[in-house]
Amino acid sequence: MSHSVANGHCLCGQVRFSFAEPPLWCGYCHCESCRRNTGAVVATFIGVDSERFQRTGPVASYASSPGVIRDFCRVCGTPLTYRADRFPGETHIYLSTLDEPDRFKPEFHVFCAEKIAWFDTNDKLPRHVATTTSATGDT
Ligand SMILES: [Zn+2]
Ligand SMILES: [Zn+2]
Repeated sequence: MSHSVANGHCLCGQVRFSFAEPPLWCGYCHCESCRRNTGAVVATFIGVDSERFQRTGPVASYASSPGVIRDFCRVCGTPLTYRADRFPGETHIYLSTLDEPDRFKPEFHVFCAEKIAWFDTNDKLPRHVATTTSATGDT
C-alpha cells in the first residue's frame, strides 16, 4: 500500500509539515476568530488525523479560546494549524499553507452565521449556521 504525502510550509520556510493522505475533510470556516487569525475573509481548513501529521521548525501556540490552540510560526507569524478539545485526534491545517493547495477542495461551509455579508462563493456546498458535530459536513 502506498500513500501520497502532502507537504506545506510557512511564509519564511522554517516550519515545514506533511501529512499522509487522504485528509479527513476539507471545508471553509467563516467564524470571526479564524478571520482574525488569518487576516482573510474566510479560512479554508484541511482536517487530518494528528497521527498522520508531522511538523518541524519553530512553532509557537496561542490558546484562542478555552480548549482551542492555534499554532503559528514563531519567526514569520504565519498561522498554521488549529487544534481543539472537541476534535480529539485531529489537526486542522490552513489549506493555503500547502505546497499544492489545488489538490484539495472544500466540501462544506461552517459558521455561516458569522460570514462577512458581502462575501460569497459560487458553489452549492452545504452551508452550516455554526459547526457540525463531526466537521465532516454531516449534521
Ligand atoms: Zn515562518
Ligand atoms: Zn473558524
